[in-house]
Amino acid sequence: MVPRGSISGLLSSYDPKRLAVATVCSHTSLQIFDGARREGFRTIGICIGQPPRFYDAFPKAKPDMFFSVKSYKEIPARAAELASMNAVVVPHGSFVEYLGVAAFEGLRLPTFGNRRVLKWESDRDKQREWLVGAGLSMPEKIARPEDITKPVLVKFYGAKGGRGFFIAKNYEEFMEVNPTEKHTIQEYVIGTRYYMHFFYSPLVNRGYRLSRGSLELMSMDRRDEANIDEMYKLGAQERLKQFGILPTFVVTGNVPVVLRESLLPKAFWMGERTVERSFELFGGIIGPFSLECIVTDKLEFKVFEISARIVAGTNFFVRSSPYSDLREPEMSVGRRIAREMRLARRLKRLDAVLS
Ligand code: AMP
Repeated sequence: MVPRGSISGLLSSYDPKRLAVATVCSHTSLQIFDGARREGFRTIGICIGQPPRFYDAFPKAKPDMFFSVKSYKEIPARAAELASMNAVVVPHGSFVEYLGVAAFEGLRLPTFGNRRVLKWESDRDKQREWLVGAGLSMPEKIARPEDITKPVLVKFYGAKGGRGFFIAKNYEEFMEVNPTEKHTIQEYVIGTRYYMHFFYSPLVNRGYRLSRGSLELMSMDRRDEANIDEMYKLGAQERLKQFGILPTFVVTGNVPVVLRESLLPKAFWMGERTVERSFELFGGIIGPFSLECIVTDKLEFKVFEISARIVAGTNFFVRSSPYSDLREPEMSVGRRIAREMRLARRLKRLDAVLS
């Protein structure tokens, strides 16, 4: 972990009027660059080799300049170059994944958000400690395969996009796969999925206020997941298994959703509890995070995961969402991050949102 104070030291060498938003050219970069530009920041796209051509198709979201690396692993060694350009990193899921958690934690560049969240987010047991400690309900964890008495989802550690996950309805089905990789067994919750995108501001003290700062609900999505989402068209899974077709949960895209309005108080309560608990655990989450939930027919929320940064499901809402529109039109999460940086700069509190 980059030592406390060293990022503040680095920031004091920056020209606050010339801050540039830098991120890796992937994931949510279009809305991050578009949003940063709309808030008056310069933008730097970090790419491998030649700049990706697809930005030419989206001129409003094309970064002002590209910073080309041979591999993403090279970024820490070239951090000083980015710092000389007053670069502030806006991390997204791919950024952290390509760099690796340890390298990201040690990156000598100011980054939006609290890096200390990574330790809590990157480990499923720590996530559980955080969320259950906050009072949220999660799918039951099953300690041993012998204890499987209802359908479960077997999840692998570090599996990206649910690749390799499998459903077992009993011990025998679990043993058919008998995984040797590190995994966790979770009750398979039947319900509908809602990925709720929140933004916590430590600086804004109006709106939905918490013990300090305030919470905004930006938008919600549901993921399109191959091949589980379309399996029903071919019939029951037992039959499909006979043909060697196994369900996976690989994310291929996102669909916008809204929640029953009567469930919004619960949604806000969950967001609020998550933030309040994060103050106690690691000094507090900052900025965007997503609670990934299944809502059952008893209208109960089960949170199966938290993402502690901008998630790709916000890409649909590059101009607005049915929620953010009721606060301020044309506010994407990418833009909201840049807005928070602008506010922090004006208040001379960049330290409060960067780490
Ligand atoms: P995760 O890696 O935890 O984000 O899970 C990948 C996908 O698996 C999710 O997007 C859901 O579709 C599904 N999923 C995760 N946990 C559960 C659960 N406990 N019950 C049912 N489906 C789940």
